[in-house]
Amino acid sequence: MRIAVIGTGYVGLTTGACLAKIGHRVICVDNDEEKIAVLNRGGMPIYEPGLREIIDESVRAGRLYFTTDITLAVRESEVCFIAVGTPPLENGEPDLTYVEDVARGIGTSMDGYRLVVEKSTVPVQTGKWIRRTIERYNRKGVPFDVASNPEFLREGSAVQDFLQPDRIVIGVESERARDLLLEIYKPINAPVIVTNLVSAELIKHAANAFLAMKISFINAVAFVCEASGADVREVANGIGMDKRIGRAFLDAGIGYGGFCFPKDLVAFIRIAEQLGYDFKLLREVERINTDARERFVKKIRQALWNLRDKEIGILGLAFKPNTDDMRFAPSIDIIRALLSEGARVRAYDPQAMGRAKSILPGVRFCASAEEVADGADLLAILTEWDEFRHIDLRRVKELMRLPIICDGRNMFERSELEGLGFTYFGVGR
Ligand code: NAD
Repeated sequence: MRIAVIGTGYVGLTTGACLAKIGHRVICVDNDEEKIAVLNRGGMPIYEPGLREIIDESVRAGRLYFTTDITLAVRESEVCFIAVGTPPLENGEPDLTYVEDVARGIGTSMDGYRLVVEKSTVPVQTGKWIRRTIERYNRKGVPFDVASNPEFLREGSAVQDFLQPDRIVIGVESERARDLLLEIYKPINAPVIVTNLVSAELIKHAANAFLAMKISFINAVAFVCEASGADVREVANGIGMDKRIGRAFLDAGIGYGGFCFPKDLVAFIRIAEQLGYDFKLLREVERINTDARERFVKKIRQALWNLRDKEIGILGLAFKPNTDDMRFAPSIDIIRALLSEGARVRAYDPQAMGRAKSILPGVRFCASAEEVADGADLLAILTEWDEFRHIDLRRVKELMRLPIICDGRNMFERSELEGLGFTYFGVGR
């Protein structure tokens, strides 16, 4: 099938590349000229494992193209996916102006039937606005459908998540739209849930809110574990074996971050409010998440007494491993708090330093974990990159001024580190 994917970010690029991989002819559109130039030169604007290979293969096979020209892409395609950003406004509501721009672009460009698919995460009932906008600009009056196909991929495992998803959700208002989407996803072996448009939109928000709630739940349990002498990992294992609960997303730490959970949670609270429901449960989820970061900073303060002029080494900046994405990463709040108390901060991340440099002025960026450790008063682990599991801890201890580790991701075993002579602080243990 001929498909346009408009918005070539983490979601759009993965969607475009994977749809090309399963045999479709895809044009990826972005209004960021530099991004499209990089892609057309064979480069990558983001780091995502396995994505580059798929892009190279699909471009060589003549199934994947990149352009800034939305009109061309819409004219050439029967199905148009909208995958632009929906960043939060000051009041927490998502900024839908990018979605509106694209709907207008599709409306003015289409010259025959088009299926327009919301891939971006949008508030419930956005489909209705997309429909109205397209109607206004669709001067030729050609027929079209709007559908919702929320995306559940996770950065760091986006390709696998797209090609082997737990489920595919399709929200439609016509049989034609349903059949087209079923046809597109036919090569992917996954259960497909067909719903109406509004339910599909809501599934995405409810799923993210539930996952965020699991993380905040275990972080709240972690506080109680610390105060009582229990180990949150044992508690998580014990409750996670119950099939009704499940072990996933029960890792205590410094809380969730990234481009999805924080903004989608706040957006869901706002949507519910507008629909007449005060979602207090989700407000508390958010509060616990902020609290998790503040408690971690407090832990560092307690370990070092005063932070002024202390050398604090940070391992990991990205909001999770295997991505270079720094959007709403917990590291940002934690590092800013440390700097504001007069600490000197040096940091290393395998992929995210390029993006972190402009967000975190005042931090010294290092070329390796060892350089971070050299002369540090304390090491704080903020992202659980695999690379850190293999660091030479004996060497790290020799290099550090004080051998103190605050492990915000519970990566290490206390007994092992204490055996090596470190003072160790985890979360909820
Ligand atoms: P992103 O910022 O990486 O990408 C968005 C892209 O859209 C950018 O490249 C931007 O230049 C482009 N864009 C903006 N306006 C445009 C326009 N008028 N025409 C063409 N291109 C335009 O964002 P993302 O992380 O890919 O997220 C996109 C959407 O998917 C969001 O709604 C997000 O909530 C949702 N989502 C993200 C993830 C994730 O893990 N990142 C997962 C599931 C869903």
